[in-house]
Amino acid sequence: MKCALCSHERMEKQTNYIADLETCIVIVRGVPSFVCEKCQETYCATSVAKRLEEIVEAAMTEIAVVHDTERIA
Ligand SMILES: [Zn+2]
Repeated sequence: MKCALCSHERMEKQTNYIADLETCIVIVRGVPSFVCEKCQETYCATSVAKRLEEIVEAAMTEIAVVHDTERIA
């Protein structure tokens, strides 16, 4: 599969997906993706992207979000 940006060949690779939301950050590890070796452009299949959405949504409801930066500092 060729890169959409630079036409370089993409490598099949497991990556970490990071969803930066307003109140928290959700990280999903070991996401099957295709990464361009030249420009690092990352592509994942539509089915994988859909599954990621579900995981992020589930994480938002199942994990309590600690949102108190003053106490940490
Ligand atoms: Zn590229």
